[in-house]
Amino acid sequence: APALTVSKLAFAYPNGHQALFGVDLTVEPGERVALLGPNGAGKTTLALHLNGVLSGGSGSVAVAGLPVDKEHLREIRRRVGLVFQDPDDQLFMSSVREDVAFGPANFGMSDVDERVLRALSAVGMESFLDRSPMHLSGGQRRRVALASVLACDPEILVLDEPSANLEPVARRELAEVLLGLDKTMLMVTHDLPYALQLCPRSVLIDDGVVVADGPTREILRDS
Ligand code: ADP
Ligand code: ADP
Repeated sequence: APALTVSKLAFAYPNGHQALFGVDLTVEPGERVALLGPNGAGKTTLALHLNGVLSGGSGSVAVAGLPVDKEHLREIRRRVGLVFQDPDDQLFMSSVREDVAFGPANFGMSDVDERVLRALSAVGMESFLDRSPMHLSGGQRRRVALASVLACDPEILVLDEPSANLEPVARRELAEVLLGLDKTMLMVTHDLPYALQLCPRSVLIDDGVVVADGPTREILRDS
């Protein structure tokens, strides 16, 4: 089965605003895909459907053939890691260690300490275990937020604007971390050089529909 199958996904927010109008998207294991498009196009709305944060519209989403629905939500959340745009939405404990341990502990995983160390090493933050996330730089917070997701070892990583508001050095460090991960990846971004560097494939969304899907350099050349 593909890593991800989105079929005829349509969704309106409770206030009636229709954000998605029948999105189809298939992602194979190991692909890295950028979700591009103007503000308000529906990129975040789509991303939030991939692990069931949003649901209730029509159409379907499946992860490795498993439907994203109430019955499978826990399994889906373990398999699809969502990295929010703002690390403040993800980091709320008093130490880096506790923040990164939160996911694996919540899933009842037995090897929480090892997972914390492995995830922090993957993002180059292992020496910050006992620091307070509040007192880190923006780039460091972004990497700890990523580690908190990696700790559960999801097959699919969904990132919302990973490079937003990062200094050039932090932006480059994060790119290196992401390129080193062996994961299926979907990345909402406005950062076209980032898309080009990290994602061989791009999907262009406008007004709640997919308007282009192909090699990133072709999508950027044609749009
Ligand atoms: P993007 O991520 O591409 O900028 P979004 O998915 O955030 O777009 O938003 C798609 C559309 O849905 C926009 O018109 C946005 O204003 C609207 N929208 C987003 N969140 C909500 C919400 N909670 N309630 C109502 N409308 C929303
Ligand atoms: P993004 O940067 O991903 O495009 P937005 O700036 O569109 O996000 O939205 C930021 C927050 O505001 C989100 O939580 C979204 O759900 C909410 N939001 C966006 N548009 C609306 C809207 N029209 N009505 C209510 N909430 C909205």
